[in-house]
Amino acid sequence: MQLWQDYHTPTSVEEAIQHLSSYAGNSRIIAGGTDLLIDLQFNHEGPMLDALIDVTAIPEMTRLTEENGWCTVGGAVTHTNIVKSALIESKATCLVESCGVVGGPQVRNVGTLGGNVAHALPAGDGTTSLVALDAEAEVAWGDGRREWLPLVQLFKGPGVSALDSSRDLLVVFRFKLCGDGEATAFKRIMRPQGVALPVLGCAVWVKLDESKQNYTAARICIGPIASVPARASEVELALYGQPANDDTLEKAVKIAHETLHPRTSKYRATAEYRDHMIETLLRQALPLAVKRAQTGVAQAEGVGMG
Ligand SMILES: Cc1cc2nc3c(=O)[nH]c(=O)nc-3n(C[C@H](O)[C@H](O)[C@H](O)COP(=O)(O)OP(=O)(O)OC[C@H]3O[C@@H](n4cnc5c(N)ncnc54)[C@H](O)[C@@H]3O)c2cc1C
Repeated sequence: MQLWQDYHTPTSVEEAIQHLSSYAGNSRIIAGGTDLLIDLQFNHEGPMLDALIDVTAIPEMTRLTEENGWCTVGGAVTHTNIVKSALIESKATCLVESCGVVGGPQVRNVGTLGGNVAHALPAGDGTTSLVALDAEAEVAWGDGRREWLPLVQLFKGPGVSALDSSRDLLVVFRFKLCGDGEATAFKRIMRPQGVALPVLGCAVWVKLDESKQNYTAARICIGPIASVPARASEVELALYGQPANDDTLEKAVKIAHETLHPRTSKYRATAEYRDHMIETLLRQALPLAVKRAQTGVAQAEGVGMG
């Protein structure tokens, strides 16, 4: 069964947008193809696509750079290349820990962070950490505009993105790297036989005060819980100004139980099990992020254990 007619490998964002525009909605962006090819083979009911536009040869989209405390990661950077980045491991550790458990090595070698976000599943592991990092995305819209947006604005529902990947391009992500007294951690529960559907993931960013004993801020993303990835804002508020100790962790766990309500999922687990796992993940990720923020040492855990 032929699924597309032409295949283009543009070398600039402008060229990619021109190709998409010339096919007037009947072409699609492809990066690693780990989600798209399955969609095309099993779920695509429309006519054959005129073309696939491969974005993996666009230098701007395959770079990973640091400038003035900010990290910029191209939309076509693979999970493997994120895992290999010493910069991200030390200053945005949760992203290495989440990209490091996506699928297996074959999937990570070609699958990209842009594809993870554009596919718009609230369970995307890379997505969960990007939300905790408060990342922004630069989009090249089909009408020629380029715009930076908070990452969460790209999500409209499960599998529904604000991006139309037959017209718009997710070019790069940017987020602030951790400074002194700041650190992150990511933990995930996966069915042992599962390769694509995390039961639950949890990414945490914390900022401690000068004494490194009290929280001054936190960002927490636990998902999938809602139809789009979201911050656990009530849990974050409960940490604000509090000592970074076991009592505060207990309060955070209690508020997480009260405010986060995962559903039973046929493919994932029951609501009761997933609710319990919120607690398990928070008890792992929050103290780990605090320890990293206090010591200034952050070595990614669990990479390759997906
Ligand atoms: C066996 C297996 C295991 C997996 N395990 C996991 C897992 O553990 N965790 C997890 O999160 N995911 C998992 N995935 C899903 C997938 O690998 C990831 O989401 C991956 O990051 C997708 O990236 P990709 O480059 O392959 O995207 P593609 O398949 O190339 O594209 C996905 C979608 O995004 C669009 N798109 C891609 N790039 C862009 C862009 N720059 N701008 C606009 N639109 C774009 C495409 O048109 C398509 O609609 C798994 C997949 C497989 C097959």
